[in-house]
Amino acid sequence: MYQQPPRGAPWVALARFEPWRANAGFYLEIASSGNIQQFFDPLGSEKIYLFICVCVSRPCKLCGADRPTPAHVLSSCPVALKQQRYTYRHNQVLTVLYNVITSTVAKLNRRGKVEAPPSPSIRFVRAGETVPAARRKPPASILESGLNWQLSCDLPDAPPYAFPVHITETEERPDIVLWSDESKQLVLLELTVPNEERVVESRKLKLERYAQLVEACNMRGYKTTVLTVEVGTRGFVATSTHRDLKRLGIWSSVLHSEISSVALRGSYAIYIHRNDAQWNWNAPVHGARIMRA
Ligand SMILES: [Zn+2]
Repeated sequence: MYQQPPRGAPWVALARFEPWRANAGFYLEIASSGNIQQFFDPLGSEKIYLFICVCVSRPCKLCGADRPTPAHVLSSCPVALKQQRYTYRHNQVLTVLYNVITSTVAKLNRRGKVEAPPSPSIRFVRAGETVPAARRKPPASILESGLNWQLSCDLPDAPPYAFPVHITETEERPDIVLWSDESKQLVLLELTVPNEERVVESRKLKLERYAQLVEACNMRGYKTTVLTVEVGTRGFVATSTHRDLKRLGIWSSVLHSEISSVALRGSYAIYIHRNDAQWNWNAPVHGARIMRA
């Protein structure tokens, strides 16, 4: 017996749905295939349904925790963490972001000019006519307002990671660092795939963690921005993520569904292997392969 959550409920409501919180396990059902191979196949079903099954009252096979919750399996088992099961999912989502940022940067760098800030336009109206509401052009994104961006990403398959030491030296390794020496701008992007209920806290922790580095880079004359990307283990994309990626200049509804789906599929892989003592799963989730230019 499982209890199905209300259809169309937002992800946050689903994450807080009481029967889910109380139950020990959950499974993802693939709408048409129900087949693990197809799930990771680019041509496989895109439609994923999330259900909770009845309480599985057995300890976690990895760490021995009594009655592990979905949150334990998906984001807080210490053994899974050590075996880099969560890193696998994190890197799948990061790959999607890296591909979009790389192609956007390549396009903008070819253009070789910055987007001019919107200028106030003068409108003439006849006497007695009402003044139409002014349509404001959205401000240029961070990427549009810089020139010749360079980037480095902390992914095993990406070119070797290198923080721009000519700006400052640091022990920190933000997932993606973007910089423009010509327009003196620096962007630190950090991705987390937390349990849905920890999204807000996770963002706060990251902003605090990078505060010192931001100050150091600002002192060197680089306008520095920290962008935090939070995609929940069950695919919830935070509003702050939407805002930050829009600010950077890469947001689209396609990207939204891609990062959501890749996080969810990564969670599915973690879930189905929860009873395997070793973690050998390395299949890229659909859409999460590094594109070579
Ligand atoms: Zn555990």
